[in-house]
Amino acid sequence: MQVVVYPDPVLRRGGKEVTEFTPDLKALADRMFAAMYQEGGVGLAAPQVAIELKLLVLNPEGNTKDRSGERVLCNPKITRKKGREWGEEGCLSFPGIHAEVERWQKITVTYRDLDGTEQSLDTEGWLARIIQHEMDHLDGVLFVDRLSPADRLRVRGTLAELESRASR
Ligand SMILES: [Zn+2]
Repeated sequence: MQVVVYPDPVLRRGGKEVTEFTPDLKALADRMFAAMYQEGGVGLAAPQVAIELKLLVLNPEGNTKDRSGERVLCNPKITRKKGREWGEEGCLSFPGIHAEVERWQKITVTYRDLDGTEQSLDTEGWLARIIQHEMDHLDGVLFVDRLSPADRLRVRGTLAELESRASR
């Protein structure tokens, strides 16, 4: 399973609601975790592996030594949010780019787990940031869309490099 890199248009398509909570969905989540760990990420959204579903996986530890923080969120929605905070982010679909993004500091997110059971999670800080970053992917929104004007200028060259690599 390959992680899709900018400017692949699939990244702009986002995902559709998950309606079937089958063993296939579990197998897909497992493959996404494997791809995420292989690339050294802390989160991965289905559109990043060219699958148009509202499904994301994450582990704030970012490695297989501690898998206790693994979560799979289907059809996530933020139902409460509080405070704004800037913090550094990267993205497996944007190799070589790290930049500050403003996110909600505290969120409540409701979602379905792999069994289709509705779950609710109150969280803040790093985990809240990962969830918001990955949720953006489900809507075709990318973190570079949210950069400050100064950072947008700073990363322009790297974006152009990714674009020219894709057209080669
Ligand atoms: Zn990302």
